[in-house]
Parts: sequence; C-alpha cells; structure tokens
Amino acid sequence: MAATTICDTDLHLLKGDVPEVTPGRIRGHEGIGAMTGLGFGVTHFPVEDRVIISCVSSCGRCANCRQGLDSHCLDPEGTPGIGWILGYMIDGTRVEYVRVPRAENSLNTISDGVTTPRTSFSRTVCPPASSGASSTARSVPATSSR
Ligand SMILES: [Zn+2]
Ligand SMILES: [Zn+2]
Repeated sequence: MAATTICDTDLHLLKGDVPEVTPGRIRGHEGIGAMTGLGFGVTHFPVEDRVIISCVSSCGRCANCRQGLDSHCLDPEGTPGIGWILGYMIDGTRVEYVRVPRAENSLNTISDGVTTPRTSFSRTVCPPASSGASSTARSVPATSSR
C-alpha cells in the first residue's frame, strides 16, 4: 500500500452504526498500491502495476454486476447485495499489504505520470462517480432530450 483514506464511512464506523464491523477489524476500503502478486483468476494486472483500490468490490459476473449494479454485487465473499467488503467483512487497506477480493473487476490501473497525491482524489471520488454516471446513462432513454 502506498496510501489509503479516511472518509465519511469511517465516522459511521466510529459511531457504531455498522455493528458487523467487529473490534479489531482493520479499517480502510480505498487505497493506492502496487501489485505484488496475483491471485487465482487475475490475469490483466501485471505485477508491479500501480492500482487504485475502489471502495466497491464487484465480481463483474453476477446478475447485478451484469446490469451495471456493481455496488450491489451478489458474490458470496461479502454480504450478497453489498459491494463493500474491505474494512467491513474482511480486513481493509490500512496495512502494508492487502488482499483485494474480486481484483479483476475492482482495481483500476494508474497511468504513468500520475502521482500518488493526484490519485488520492480519484480513489475516493471517481469510483462512486463513475458508477453513478454509468447507471444514469443506462437509465436515460437514448431519445431523451436531457
Ligand atoms: Zn470511503
Ligand atoms: Zn457481482
């Protein structure tokens, strides 16, 4: 891990709003890092690629993912219907090394020349914004005047 975040979700965790997050759980659900190894089924991220870890982990294969509802992924590694896994159902990103579930569909490569501080902004804002824009684009008919 090169960098991780603190966001408003952490305030909910501190207030005890999410009882599934048990004491001792390593928090953090976004981050920037470099690939140090590939798990089974991960093929398109060369080792040492710099990547953004999204707050949403999605399999890309279940019924919800195929409809573009990545944040409602049904993969059984987390809580089906909730795309949030890191720092919730498993230990999160505030560590030196992290295993990213569903990595093939949940990481984004960082372009050469983009610095870690610049990427810090995009790791929190871009995944939800991108997901929202995609969902909106799919829900607006092509003939709409919007
Ligand atoms: Zn967050
Ligand atoms: Zn899925």
